[in-house]
Amino acid sequence: MKTSNVIREIKSRFPNEPEYYQAIEEVLESIEETYNEHPEFEKANLIERLIIPDKIISFRVTWVDDTGQVRTNMGYRVQHNNAIGPYKGGIRFHASVSPGILKFLAFEQTFKNALTTLPLGGGKGGSDFSPREKSDGEIMRFCQAFVEGLWRNIGHNTDVPAGDIGVGGREVAYMFGKYKKLAGEFTGTFTGKGFEFGGSLIRPEATGYGNVYFLCEMLKTQNIKLEGKKCLISGSGNVAQYTCEKLIEFGAIPVSMSDSDGYIYDPNGITIEKLAYLKELKNLYRGRIREYAEEFDCKYVAGSRPWGEKGDIALPSATQNEINGDDARHLVSNGVIAVSEGANMPCTPEAIDLFHEKKILFAPGKAANAGGVSVSGLEMTQNSERYSWTAEQVDEKLKWIMSNIHESCIKYGTEPDGYVNYVKGANIAAFMKVAKAIMAQGIL
Ligand code: NDP
Repeated sequence: MKTSNVIREIKSRFPNEPEYYQAIEEVLESIEETYNEHPEFEKANLIERLIIPDKIISFRVTWVDDTGQVRTNMGYRVQHNNAIGPYKGGIRFHASVSPGILKFLAFEQTFKNALTTLPLGGGKGGSDFSPREKSDGEIMRFCQAFVEGLWRNIGHNTDVPAGDIGVGGREVAYMFGKYKKLAGEFTGTFTGKGFEFGGSLIRPEATGYGNVYFLCEMLKTQNIKLEGKKCLISGSGNVAQYTCEKLIEFGAIPVSMSDSDGYIYDPNGITIEKLAYLKELKNLYRGRIREYAEEFDCKYVAGSRPWGEKGDIALPSATQNEINGDDARHLVSNGVIAVSEGANMPCTPEAIDLFHEKKILFAPGKAANAGGVSVSGLEMTQNSERYSWTAEQVDEKLKWIMSNIHESCIKYGTEPDGYVNYVKGANIAAFMKVAKAIMAQGIL
């Protein structure tokens, strides 16, 4: 297998899906050597069977807005791979959603889920519906219409969706309610549910907390303390908020957050009181990050990202490709010591190459943000048991899983000079698990 040949072939068969090629290329480059040590993989055409999704469902979503106008969007679910468990992955509502973006996310999800130690396959879904400036009634009607198009393809043993960009607890609850009604059963078919109806404690916190746990594991390898470190965060949604919360608890100083309009820089640090304001602003009033700067009299920069600011650690937690080569050069020249991806694929290949070249601690999203899907997996377990664990029990398991993922990265990613290439480590560990399962199950 030669990565460049596979990418050329994929580009010609599936045109105009740049994020999908980017995700595949990163994985193939790091597993190429390991793969080629197994001639049986090539004979079984394992690469194509791993890259091309099992199934893609696409459907029109028709709904009525508050003025009575009938509107349409597209809905999708990419069921990428179920070799090690039912398809599992979030639903994204954002104007930029396309089959190519969901294919990249579902591919990444398959590898991430394999790292969690839990029996979860990979999938991702979503719609080009933008929740911005929609009323609660419009959100509910859209979620219900979306599930009408999807419900026959999902189930607690088949495919278990959850949240992602634009889909939080409110949207999951509307989708779960509609699914329950259509299927005529109460099962754990969605995760990220409210605690009152089968959700797990710590699920909302899990991705952000998990990222900080992973960061601590990386810093520990260099005997560096997180306490007192200035942290640049992007995004101000679910992942960013709980990353910020755990950083504060561990004595770090988060200094930035952002949304798609711009970023705030608060040199004195975002405190727990300021974060409480931000959570209310974002989660309750669906406000903009600019309002934080107005409330606390700090810097706001419209139309930009925080990577030109000074910080010791960067935790990109908004969206894909939000740190490019120039951003990475700024971070490096400002002395960044670690970058841990809360979002999926937020760093471009050029940025990652620079972090590796400069021997900066760099955690790829499929390892660092796996805490969310891990606790989703634990939610599925609790639903099957018809039982709820305490927050402490779930948090302990989350810490254990993140530390386990870190161990796998060390095992497969340590270079001869001792530097840990976490991208390589995560990719090889996940690949070997999924590959063995595909091979064992025959030609499907
Ligand atoms: P949310 O919708 O809660 O928050 C997303 C945040 O990112 C918002 O502040 C949003 O700003 C900003 N954002 C979205 N798109 C863009 C863009 N194109 N440019 C700049 N800013 C943008 O999503 P999550 O916090 O759940 O997800 C964030 C990232 O983490 C995504 O990459 C997601 O795939 C990943 N992730 C999420 C997990 C989870 O458990 N939720 C699990 C693992 C990964 P605005 O409000 O203006 O839209």
